Amino acid sequence: MGPSQTHSAGALRIGVVGAGTMGRGIVQLFVQAGHTLLCFDEKPDAAVQGLTAVFSTLESLVAKGRLTSDALQSIRSRTSVCASLADLAGCDVVVEAIIEDIAVKRDLFSRLEDVVAEGCVLATNTSSLIVAEIASACRRPERVAGLHFFNPVPLMKVAEVIAAVRTAPSTVVFLRAMVEGAGHKAVVVADQPGFLVNHAGRGLYTEGLRIVEECVACPSDVDDVLRDGLGFRMGPFELLDLTGLDVSSKVMTSIYEQFQEEPRFRPSSLVPPRVAAGLYGRKTGEGWYRYEKGQKVGPARKSAASLSSGPSVWIDPDAPESDALAEIVQKSGAKRRLQASGSDVCFIQPIGEDATFAALRLGIDPTRCVAVDPITPLDRRRTMMLTVTTAPAVRDAAHALLASDEVPVTIIGDSIGFIAQRVIATIVNIAANIAQRAIADVEDLEAAVRIGLGYPFGPLHWGDRIGAPRILQILNGQLRSTGDPRYRPSPWIARRAALGVSLLTAEAPR
Ligand code: NAD
Repeated sequence: MGPSQTHSAGALRIGVVGAGTMGRGIVQLFVQAGHTLLCFDEKPDAAVQGLTAVFSTLESLVAKGRLTSDALQSIRSRTSVCASLADLAGCDVVVEAIIEDIAVKRDLFSRLEDVVAEGCVLATNTSSLIVAEIASACRRPERVAGLHFFNPVPLMKVAEVIAAVRTAPSTVVFLRAMVEGAGHKAVVVADQPGFLVNHAGRGLYTEGLRIVEECVACPSDVDDVLRDGLGFRMGPFELLDLTGLDVSSKVMTSIYEQFQEEPRFRPSSLVPPRVAAGLYGRKTGEGWYRYEKGQKVGPARKSAASLSSGPSVWIDPDAPESDALAEIVQKSGAKRRLQASGSDVCFIQPIGEDATFAALRLGIDPTRCVAVDPITPLDRRRTMMLTVTTAPAVRDAAHALLASDEVPVTIIGDSIGFIAQRVIATIVNIAANIAQRAIADVEDLEAAVRIGLGYPFGPLHWGDRIGAPRILQILNGQLRSTGDPRYRPSPWIARRAALGVSLLTAEAPR
């Protein structure tokens, strides 16, 4: 009988091996859910210290009135330290959270199999190893799966259940029920590099770095646009500084290599010299930003000149947000002209095209042309892009005008697509490919990104909000202009854009 049939409803006996950062969180999550927890660590006293830390967290919850003393007493009675691996013999499931080393994990799993009963499920919390490689150390790989939590486990309310090649469906069902019973969202993922969350999260970093590499914008401008304009909690460079570039750099390289050098995941050459120089981020006091007493020291901002005499402005009538732009122009007191010739500033709003080529296509003088991103909501932050020859006086007049109602403005150099367009199109494209390859189903993909990465929307839903044809236009524009296959659009997007259906539309049942 498979584990799911035996134990799906009642309290389980759960073993946790490794009492470090993740093991402690896993113990807390499941003991609070009513299960019995046994914790083993090879280091003497580590399990005792781990459980002491868990109880101290729970005591603070009691002090805040979020847990009763009775509940804490019950939790204490259901938690114990194991002196040896053999003490895990009676477990229904064992979750491993030890050092990220394939040889050490394989050795542990083969020893565990000698200890536990036939029906016991074995799960690994690995973040980067191939689950099948761990499972193949066991005689019964069908009972082995990945169970990937995020730090801090009790607060990051999603876990990936990784179905390796030989994992039995009943093992997946069992782990999914166990996770959801503890109040977390369980998402089922194929045994592919980065699993789901770390795979879907690549786009923010790779395209952010590419934008800086091309000198389109500096790191703080990229972060500002994505945070204020699009609603990311942090921009890619703030996130890299938080995680540490030493750690992130290894993840970027490992995912690229594990995907057989897929160009979409190609790491940036900007990173290794910064790692070599020790610019890791917060932990070394300097990364993409400098930190003083733990606080980010931001770069000085260029403030807008005040709006002199009121420039005359022409707005491309076919610009996607021409009405909203017209309103800003009108409120600023600038004169609006209906002919481009003779006006001081010409506003255009290209998608997936740079300002220089858009100006030439529209027959506008590039020295008078300023492009404004139509994708970033104009009431949150405005991004203006210059052609190669935009005159400084035109730049300053456009800046003053766009900043006249106090909405912040970011000025970037010419780029095939604005910051927001490029990053969102990359994120949607990677997500579409995850769906196309059935690494996870659409619902799990959307939930994992919202909960695991904290994005305001699931990636495919986000693509729908912008419009699949526009996402396609951005990607095709980048592909055409650069010839770089990292921008090739996923067929998932192309087909749904052609059919006029949502990007959330799953494949037809076969
Ligand atoms: P950690 O270093 O904080 O803790 C690991 C613990 O495992 C230590 O207490 C160590 O003594 C013990 N250990 C090592 N080898 C052992 C063995 N053979 N038998 C028993 N105990 C052993 O590590 P962590 O950050 O908790 O990470 C654990 C696992 O979770 C790794 O696979 C890691 O990749 C993964 N992970 C970590 C995070 C994170 O943010 N830290 C997130 C997701 C997944």
